[in-house]
Formats: sequence, structure tokens, C-alpha cells
Amino acid sequence: MRSVVCPGCGKNTNVNISETGGSTRTKCPHCKREILVKTNREGKIGSVTCTSCLIATACTFAAVSPERSAEELAILREYRDSYFVNLSGGEILLSGYYRDAPQIVRAIQARRDSSEILKMLHKEYITPSINLILANKNTEAFDVYKALMKLLRQNYLKSDNIG
Ligand SMILES: [Zn+2]
Repeated sequence: MRSVVCPGCGKNTNVNISETGGSTRTKCPHCKREILVKTNREGKIGSVTCTSCLIATACTFAAVSPERSAEELAILREYRDSYFVNLSGGEILLSGYYRDAPQIVRAIQARRDSSEILKMLHKEYITPSINLILANKNTEAFDVYKALMKLLRQNYLKSDNIG
């Protein structure tokens, strides 16, 4: 058993990972989201992703440290719960995100360059929107989110791409 930080809720979760390399899927006991842990041949953890949360996946993947990633996700969760859901149509937008994100995450993870894509999303969209949130520019942060989702839906939400 190994302890990893769930990208979905930020809590520690024990995972029975493969010690010989490969992927392990498990359900986070706290938020019930599915977590995917990839290990290399030496049993070292390569990446921890949440199959239903794209933004959390990108943060966890691109973060310089687990602490930094937890900090970013806390800022984004706070923004989601205090600003985003209270927008007119915010609830609908959020359910659209949770509906589409798993498919987008799967499409990205199926690519050979998935780590570059996740790092790019983090650098070009997620970090700028976190900076805007911290500067109290909530509307501008929301525009960045919309641009991010537009890009992702255009590139990764073609149903004939999957499976
Ligand atoms: Zn969780």
C-alpha cells in the first residue's frame, strides 16, 4: 500500500499499487472519484490522476511539489464553490464540466504526448486563472476557464476518437 494525494479532493488515499510497473485504478474513499496511479518498472509512482477531474489532473501532474498542487486545488475549489456556482447558469456549466471532463481526460491520457499536453494546460490556462483569482479578478479567471473548456471540447470531445 502506498499513500497518494487524491487529485479530486486533495486528501491522502492508500492505493495498492503495482510494484512491477503499470496502472492501478482505485476509488478515492473520500470523494468517490476514480484515481489512476501509474508506476514504472521499479515501482516508483510516475503520475496520479483523477479520471473525472481534468483540472485536478493537470495541476497534480504539472505541480513542482505535492504541497503546491494541494494549494492550487484548494484555491480552485474555493473559487468553484464561492463564485462559479453562484453565476447565472453556473450550476449548468459545472455539471457540463463534470459530464465532459472524464471523456476529455481519457482522450488526453490515451495520447503519447499526454504529459506535455497536461503541462501546457497547466501553464497556459490553469496558472493564469489561479493568478487572476488571487488578484480578485474573478470574471477574467472565468473567461480563461471558458477558453480552456472550448479548446478541450474542440480537441478531445469527438466521440469517434474514443475507443
Ligand atoms: Zn478524493
